[in-house]
Amino acid sequence: MVKKTWRIFWRPRRRKPDWRLNFNPCSRAAPISSPGCSPQRGIQQTILLAPHLDTVGAEDAQFVPQRKQGRMYGRGACDTKGSVAAMFTALCELAASPSRPQTTQIVFAGLVDEEHAQAGSRALAATGFQADLAIIGEPTRLQVVTAHKGSLWLQLETRGQAAHGATPRLGKNAVHEMARVVDALESGYAAHLRRRHHPLLGTATVNVGQIWGGTQPNIVPAACAITVDRRTLPGETDAGVVREIAARLRKRQLQARISHTKLAPAPALETNANLPLVRRLFATVGQTEPVGVHYFCDAAVLAAAGIPSVVFGPGDIAQAHTADEWISLAQVERAKNLLLKFLKSLS
Ligand SMILES: [Zn+2]
Repeated sequence: MVKKTWRIFWRPRRRKPDWRLNFNPCSRAAPISSPGCSPQRGIQQTILLAPHLDTVGAEDAQFVPQRKQGRMYGRGACDTKGSVAAMFTALCELAASPSRPQTTQIVFAGLVDEEHAQAGSRALAATGFQADLAIIGEPTRLQVVTAHKGSLWLQLETRGQAAHGATPRLGKNAVHEMARVVDALESGYAAHLRRRHHPLLGTATVNVGQIWGGTQPNIVPAACAITVDRRTLPGETDAGVVREIAARLRKRQLQARISHTKLAPAPALETNANLPLVRRLFATVGQTEPVGVHYFCDAAVLAAAGIPSVVFGPGDIAQAHTADEWISLAQVERAKNLLLKFLKSLS
């Protein structure tokens, strides 16, 4: 974490400054960097610009940016350096512009750890920070996203009784029990979830992603475990999902111990698309209908802390996490212009 504190690095040209732009320090307790742009007095509302600074893992060479044919290639180019560049540049241009909002403060938070456990947005939420709208930077192809699915990772374990492989009737096969559990999840439960539909997000899903059990062929396995990725819709709770799965297994007379494997809860996002600031952002980008995405991000963490949150940024999620991640530089420029237009439209 950066220990050094930056003082004011931008000074208004006018003799009597009525706006300030400054950096706050990062610390272990508050792992965010938060330059803000605000009027000296009379703050009536706050807009948070919050892209994340971390990326998924990569080879060293992927961290050397390459500019080719209007694109920037490199790890994090679209997820989310493009959003960082667009948001930060919009903030700096706004601070230098004579047509700034009079009563709106804009805060930029460069969040850490989004790709892992969202420590940055969770720490920011834990400080009690509040804003009237948070714009989370992710590659949405310049669409304003108001909903995304949540994600719940579970581990299920079946217990059996070890015995010699030549006398399986003397034991209880935990792998066989788990095979029935997997079938219950991947057929019956998955079909049930396909009927649970959200207008922006489609259906809830379940995926059995890992399985391990037993020790060698001639031992009846005493234990078997699977991990499950359950993508949730707004309104579903983690506890509710666990209860639902447990009830389905009970109905089939299957026994499995269910535990959570996520470090922190990752609920779904559903922000009211009729909030005045959200509608204003829609109007700025020329969007008429709200949009949902299937991937989880910091927006849900901040929304859970009471900050109305939307997701917006240049680039396409299809390029995120790929070996040759890239972003269109024209789209980064357009994102900056749209954000600047939105910020300048505020009172
Ligand atoms: Zn991202």
